[in-house]
Amino acid sequence: MELEKLLLRKVGEAVGRFKMIRDGDRVAVALSGGKDSLTLLETLLLLAKRAPIDFSVCAFTVEQGKFLRPIGPLGEYLKARGVDWTYHTDNPSLRLLEEQPDHGCDMCSRFRRRAVYQIARGLGANVIAFGHTADDFCESFLRNAMFTGRVSALPAITYSREKDFRLIRPLVFVTEDITSRYAESLGAPIVPCGCSLRTGTVRKSIRSLFSEIEKDYPHLKETLLSAMGNLEPERLLDLRYLDLDSSEGAGVPELLPILND
Ligand code: SF4
Repeated sequence: MELEKLLLRKVGEAVGRFKMIRDGDRVAVALSGGKDSLTLLETLLLLAKRAPIDFSVCAFTVEQGKFLRPIGPLGEYLKARGVDWTYHTDNPSLRLLEEQPDHGCDMCSRFRRRAVYQIARGLGANVIAFGHTADDFCESFLRNAMFTGRVSALPAITYSREKDFRLIRPLVFVTEDITSRYAESLGAPIVPCGCSLRTGTVRKSIRSLFSEIEKDYPHLKETLLSAMGNLEPERLLDLRYLDLDSSEGAGVPELLPILND
């Protein structure tokens, strides 16, 4: 089917370009219960059958007490498809929720990260795949530039602090209109998380900014992703990348008129 081909092409491109998956890897997909990570799991399972590299795929879900529906139907669905899936209840997260119901994302993520590494280790995985999409990369890029004063997004590939896991985001080129359609076509039981209902105001503003501009420029996110891979540091203001002492004065002439304005 067309959607499947599109996904395989986009995920294949990310996996190849960033050397995300290598021969002999065991990839554990962090399944949140949402459309994105489910799409990621299905695509990696397809890729494992077709790609010239030899790797295996398993999946796991961390229960932190925030799912809005029972996880059972998702488990049944995965079992019927023969997916190697582990469901882990993270008791420290449940205690945190009980003792500090208003804890922020930072603490929640820290607890999740610890659980994720522990589960992946138990599964014998050396790679952990997360379902962040092109939308997440673009939102993060704008949020960082506009609210934290940094030009950065999310790492497509990075390593855990101890370097024992490669952390990958193979949906970097896949937008959420694709994951929504694909998850729907699978008929998979999506399990929403309570937090998905309270998207922060900054995120909401960025999302509505995108949908407004995308009415006239539907390829906006593709262009932004290209921009992230096509830096022109000499046209930015980071002194680490400007050769101010060169005899030719590289980067300086174009700055002067702006400074004189
Ligand atoms: S949005 Fe909810 S689940 Fe996600 S990190 Fe924040 S507190 Fe945790």
